[in-house]
Amino acid sequence: MVKKTKSPVTYAKIKGIVSYFTALIKDKKLGSNYPIYQQMDFFQHESSLSGDDGAAAVSFSNPIEELQSRVSAADFDYLKVIGTGSFGKVFLATHRENGRYYAVKVLQKHGILARKEERHVMCEHSVLLKTLNHPFLVKLHFSFQTKDRLYLVLDYACGGELFYHLHREWVFGEPRARFYAAEIASALGYLHSLNIVYRDLKPENVLLDSGGHVVLTDFGLCKEGVTGRGTIRTFCGTPEYLAPEVLQQRKYDRTVDWWGLGAVLHEMLYGLPPFYSTDRLEMLRNIISQPLELKPGVSSAARDLLKRLLNKDRAKRLGAKRDLTELQSHAFFSSIQWDELFAKKIPPPFVPSLSGPGDLTNIDPRFTELPVPQSLGVCEEYGATFPGFTYINDNILSLSAQTSGH
Ligand code: ATP
Repeated sequence: MVKKTKSPVTYAKIKGIVSYFTALIKDKKLGSNYPIYQQMDFFQHESSLSGDDGAAAVSFSNPIEELQSRVSAADFDYLKVIGTGSFGKVFLATHRENGRYYAVKVLQKHGILARKEERHVMCEHSVLLKTLNHPFLVKLHFSFQTKDRLYLVLDYACGGELFYHLHREWVFGEPRARFYAAEIASALGYLHSLNIVYRDLKPENVLLDSGGHVVLTDFGLCKEGVTGRGTIRTFCGTPEYLAPEVLQQRKYDRTVDWWGLGAVLHEMLYGLPPFYSTDRLEMLRNIISQPLELKPGVSSAARDLLKRLLNKDRAKRLGAKRDLTELQSHAFFSSIQWDELFAKKIPPPFVPSLSGPGDLTNIDPRFTELPVPQSLGVCEEYGATFPGFTYINDNILSLSAQTSGH
């Protein structure tokens, strides 16, 4: 087993990889007719494609924003670090009044502004607001800001990262991989139905809830407003799981998510992403030009699905025409009752052993050993750096009704 250490993939890292790769292609003529990234303004194409006029166009108004004073950073006790990402950290926290556990994603404003990432953050926020009703997408309860930080209060997925379990077990058996792949596919199909492309599917973003069901998190790289076979060109995502058209800066569409699902399914079944090489450049080159080789040891239905999802030609990739429906009728998923799956009636193949809702057993100690800053609960006045960020889910209204005796 190749031990992968998780380090946040920053755009600086991607920039480095792409610059190097670009130079390599220029020098060694890898056979691509398409220029790889030549400029690093990650948002330029997005704004022209979505027809808006850049960061200034990102604004969200919420009818209950005036309730902002009812929920703030000071209402939570921050207990442990449970994850890290490129914009900040995720903490396990309890609400002081209702005693419930939440995962609070805290983003540093200065880092976001310095890297001009406002659009990604507001995009994540916007997607979280839109996708409150899918069983396999993380739920946003509140969001608020202080002078220095943005806070997203999410359901705590206490089963941990799929990545964490996968890398402890090396591979999953087919029934288990099928279950996760089906729940992930269901979530992706739902996002696509809202014209959202997820774009960053990787095992670290697939979490498990207390019952062992999938919870897809991290919508920072989603792209909204991509209808039908609409295309985008922005370079983003995690190199191992990037589709060839993304690496080559060709136009891409929602089928990048089906490639991502193929990559995650491959890793679940074989223990490594497809086209894997310890030499990262070699791996990127393989993604673009090497035919997919699948070793024996998995069923022919699984291999066929992988071949179809990992088709380098996005127009021929499974899902290109009828999206999720095409995947649902593939032989690999023949035993899945999709309605039952959606209703969470299919018993998960693995149920995390937990002592309670705040259990940290399935969270990597590399995170939980990190210090929790004392200043997280301090509420300085906030500027209007991120207007429209504040959000309070309906359940705070019932909470206040309970506490005021109504
Ligand atoms: P990236 O650099 O991958 O874009 P990010 O800054 O957007 O990361 P997330 O991916 O959202 O941050 O979160 C980082 C990690 O925190 C996740 O990989 C996961 O381990 C943990 N995490 C995030 N949300 C939750 C949650 N709701 N419950 C439990 N753990 C979570």
